[in-house]
Amino acid sequence: MTKIPQPAQYLLRVDDLCPTVHERRWRRLAAIIREFGIHPILAVVPDNQDSELRNSPPDPAFWAQMRAMQAAGAAIAIHGYRHQCVQRGKSMLPFHSHTEFSGRPAEEQRQMLRMGLEMLRAEGLNPRLWVAPRHGFDSNTLAALREEGIGYLSDGMALRPFLREGVVWIPQQIWSPVERKKGLWTICLHPGATTRPVAEDLRAFLSRNAAHFTSFDRVVKDYEAHEMSANERIYEAAVMGRLRLRRSVKKLVRQWQA
Ligand SMILES: [Zn+2]
Repeated sequence: MTKIPQPAQYLLRVDDLCPTVHERRWRRLAAIIREFGIHPILAVVPDNQDSELRNSPPDPAFWAQMRAMQAAGAAIAIHGYRHQCVQRGKSMLPFHSHTEFSGRPAEEQRQMLRMGLEMLRAEGLNPRLWVAPRHGFDSNTLAALREEGIGYLSDGMALRPFLREGVVWIPQQIWSPVERKKGLWTICLHPGATTRPVAEDLRAFLSRNAAHFTSFDRVVKDYEAHEMSANERIYEAAVMGRLRLRRSVKKLVRQWQA
């Protein structure tokens, strides 16, 4: 069984990429990725219809940029289909009540996934893994991924990749760069939220830790994923419980302040 890495390793994941990505903030983030020569996971929305991700006029060079970054070692992830999170359904990771995929019938999910994959491939991209909008996916999503030959996803609370329902989960646990002692940590950033202080924070972190960044390809080679051990399940339940509690408290505070 693959050991938990020590010192810690990091993966950078950039979500919500589409032609209308916030131009200035994404340019800033892409420059840092280039500067440190890291190989991120780029989570691309095949056919964005989410108005929240329309932050700049469509960039005609967007797809060429994705191809160039893929050629430089980035891994392309399929980030949903249209990023319209209007479906109510129970997700395997219970962070949000409305997501794009969870709760839809199996055939519909497979259809959405297939169309998304076709669109990315038509742009010359090779999607290697799944990144769910709002962490929303269920057993039907995983079945669709298996049927479409996508054997990896980025999500879940663990310190190393694990296998669940026939798909390898590469854990994604943090939303800003934080130093850790051991384990494989995926830092998820959203280009629309990468303000100057967020970018500077990432640059400072990379100045200290760039050598500890890995890539999707290396993770695939380095780890043999197994079902979680009993201890890992306890760890997962504890972290999920804490995250859920934190989200409920935030929601309550928002309601009181409204
Ligand atoms: Zn998203």
